[in-house]
Amino acid sequence: MTSTAFVGVTVIPMDRPGPVSGRTVVTDGDRITAIGPSSGIELAEGTTVIDGAGRYLLPGLADMHVHLGMWDPDPGHLALYLAEGTTVVRCLSGSITNARWRDQVRAGELIGPTILTSGPTIIGGIDGGDDELAKLPIVQPGSVAEVIDEVRAQAAGWADLIKVYDGLAPDVYLAAIETAKAEGMYVTGHLLDELPLDDIAAAGLDEVAHLDELNYHHWRGTPDQPGFALDWDAIPATARLLAETGMTVVSNLSADESMAELLADTDRVLARPEYRVVRPEVMAAWRHGRQTGVFEGQGPYRRDLELPFFKALLDGLRSAGVRILVGTDTSPLVEGAVPSKIHRELELLVESGHSPFEALTAATVNAADVVADMGRDGGFGRIVPGHRADLLLLGGNPLDDIGQTRNRVGVMARGTYHTQQRLDELLGRYLAGHAPTGVGR
Ligand SMILES: [Zn+2]
Repeated sequence: MTSTAFVGVTVIPMDRPGPVSGRTVVTDGDRITAIGPSSGIELAEGTTVIDGAGRYLLPGLADMHVHLGMWDPDPGHLALYLAEGTTVVRCLSGSITNARWRDQVRAGELIGPTILTSGPTIIGGIDGGDDELAKLPIVQPGSVAEVIDEVRAQAAGWADLIKVYDGLAPDVYLAAIETAKAEGMYVTGHLLDELPLDDIAAAGLDEVAHLDELNYHHWRGTPDQPGFALDWDAIPATARLLAETGMTVVSNLSADESMAELLADTDRVLARPEYRVVRPEVMAAWRHGRQTGVFEGQGPYRRDLELPFFKALLDGLRSAGVRILVGTDTSPLVEGAVPSKIHRELELLVESGHSPFEALTAATVNAADVVADMGRDGGFGRIVPGHRADLLLLGGNPLDDIGQTRNRVGVMARGTYHTQQRLDELLGRYLAGHAPTGVGR
């Protein structure tokens, strides 16, 4: 791989606040090798030069909650992420296929973001035919002894982290978390409604996989009952507990927002250009939404009560110093969640009270620190020598306007620079492979 240099660019290094102008950033192989004033850096012969004048260089974005193989068994869909400037994804329903893609991207055999993956989701209470269940990336341990064996096997295998989910008996759920910690594994997941947050934190859960999971600890009654309310006053105590126990929270408010919008007007929302990337059979399922069916009639509650509550909760977490990650939850089972939502997620962080720098920190620095906590390569998310060359070249300053992450000139992933035009072509090729001709696209 030849060396590449971004010359005369304004760098947003993310290891300190603010931009630094008139810089040259040099990459070699998959690493950043030098940063300095453009006047003081001598480029080796054969270096590919990219003009950075009037442009901004930001670390690539990390989408820390996706479902790769479930979204599409075709790895061509990894282009969906790169084309959005997402250079790291973390899959929270792992399969051996996801692990293979991870290894192929690392070896340069597959074009895509750097992948991390959980083991199969540890879940309970899912019914279905054996054939159907076998297709899902899940395991259903029925006892404490079984879950201990399962977590140990995942820790010894290809998993980068452990994912726990709903439906488990409380003792099985807690044993999964405790075993993961004993095995030195990072563990994320849903909260169990039956257990107080304190008990879950004490067991060692590292991360709440969705901010909205915390909702259950603030509900009084259910939305269809008179007297239902959300307990706003408890926000500071929740935030303090999470901060004190060092738990991380993945914000995926964009999925909550999509749900509220879809409940209001499914067809109009799904006709938006951002949904052209959804495979026809997934789109058909979304039109007759599983979730939107279950939540029928909850549109106004979700828009007018729940979303403002989530924003206040997110701001409570921010001000208490809880580490926030961003995730889109892109999955065929989550209506309206697609890779481009990472930009909406950043906007929602800002709408909730994050500064643009804090929002970008969630999508870069915090993700890198979590990956380091997972015992994997956390050398990304900051533009410093030695870190992986995952970079976005933007046409405007995202510290002034967070929407500028949508204004990309190009994306560098693991040291390979793709112009946005090339990424859009790659995406076009992938879409042509699954699009029915001319229908609603
Ligand atoms: Zn998910």
